[in-house]
Amino acid sequence: MATKNTSTWLADVTVPSYPKLTKNLSADVVIAGGGITGLLNAYMLAKAGIKVVLLEKDRLLNGATGSTTAFITSSIDTDTPDLIDMFGKAEAKKILESHEDAINLIEKIIKQEKIDCEYMRCSNFAYANDRKEYKALEEEQAALKSIDMGAALSKSAEFGFGHAGVLTTKKQAKYHPLKFLTALLPKLEAMGVEIYEKTEVTDIDGEDTVAVTANGHTVTGEWSITATYHPFNNPKEVFLKKGMYVSHMIELEVPKGKYVEGTYEDQENPYHYFRVDAGKGAKGKDRIIMGGEDHRKEVPVHKKSFKALEEYAEELFGKAYPVIRSWTGYVEEPSDGLALIGEYDPHRILATAFSGTGMTYAAISAQISHDLILGKKNPYIEIYRPDRMPTMIQLWRKGRDYGEEFFRGAVANLFK
Ligand SMILES: Cc1cc2nc3c(=O)[nH]c(=O)nc-3n(C[C@H](O)[C@H](O)[C@H](O)COP(=O)(O)OP(=O)(O)OC[C@H]3O[C@@H](n4cnc5c(N)ncnc54)[C@H](O)[C@@H]3O)c2cc1C
Repeated sequence: MATKNTSTWLADVTVPSYPKLTKNLSADVVIAGGGITGLLNAYMLAKAGIKVVLLEKDRLLNGATGSTTAFITSSIDTDTPDLIDMFGKAEAKKILESHEDAINLIEKIIKQEKIDCEYMRCSNFAYANDRKEYKALEEEQAALKSIDMGAALSKSAEFGFGHAGVLTTKKQAKYHPLKFLTALLPKLEAMGVEIYEKTEVTDIDGEDTVAVTANGHTVTGEWSITATYHPFNNPKEVFLKKGMYVSHMIELEVPKGKYVEGTYEDQENPYHYFRVDAGKGAKGKDRIIMGGEDHRKEVPVHKKSFKALEEYAEELFGKAYPVIRSWTGYVEEPSDGLALIGEYDPHRILATAFSGTGMTYAAISAQISHDLILGKKNPYIEIYRPDRMPTMIQLWRKGRDYGEEFFRGAVANLFK
């Protein structure tokens, strides 16, 4: 029997609790939000000797980070041909490199802090369900080649399920996100980071940055970082540049060794994605966590979307495997396909609209905040700056993408 609305990670790990803020404080940097973005930003800054206070509205790690699939990939949600059309070759290459750097940064932290969190390098397999999707893979490979980045295309590779071709990107990764982040908490405390839960930031105000909290106390800081997923104060610089979508997730128990371990995504719109974790199911079986059937959060077709997802899995694997649990999660999508990260007002940083690649974006944002605050150069500040204006071609490309997703996903499911 499936357990509703509990992710694999939240069911597996107890996240420690922290007190409410009960007095006024001051710090160098005040961070709002206790998901992966808040915690990685806190880590990078504290490591550099900066005094950080982190305020979480509810409980740590219960937002998008608790419901993720935790692929750690440089394959972002905008295909490379579109990325090149929208940003040009040099910029597209830089964008993909920023995600490669992010994978390396996450790996470095895990190694340096000796964190046991099921981290492994693996390949990402973009697979085609039919000839049309295979053509999309050919185009993706050609676009990658045009910017000197490699991925291998094969029609014959064996994965344990039928496909029309697979584009393999090596040196990607996956982990147990909550094992990683809960292991980071004592390290943050040891570096002097103060963490408060049940403390909602309601305003960021004043000449020095002041985070005003709902329970009447203030934390004064030189800098603030809004890492609340959806920026609670919705600054004008990012207003109308993002939209909230919902994704549906199921955990399946599958036979040991039948599927190749790694991360997978198809070429449909909305696309399906899954990870194979060897030996992580009950009694040493393998586990598949699959997501998809994304649509705007306002569209109430969850039951039908879960049904469509289970049917997709059954068709792909040729068998209805036991569904151990299922849950939904929110995905914030940017209007031009790129996250909004950086200083939107003097000394006020935000990090939002990470699409389905928030593991790497969180690390990119942590490095950008670190470099902005310490006055260091960072090659990605200009690309992600939140006050950029999307061009017409960017809005058109992504608008077409989201429109297609709406009609082929939510609307199609509505009539099932
Ligand atoms: C179903 C699903 C699958 C995904 N799969 C992947 C994947 O495979 N790979 C990948 O890279 N990314 C994936 N993502 C995206 C990724 O999980 C997210 O982008 C990432 O977890 C966002 O982390 P965050 O810390 O920014 O936000 P969150 O984890 O949502 O944390 C934000 C925190 O801020 C708190 N908060 C909100 N308002 C306030 C306030 N006013 N004051 C104080 N605190 C506040 C919230 O309570 C929350 O705890 C997926 C997302 C979903 C939903």
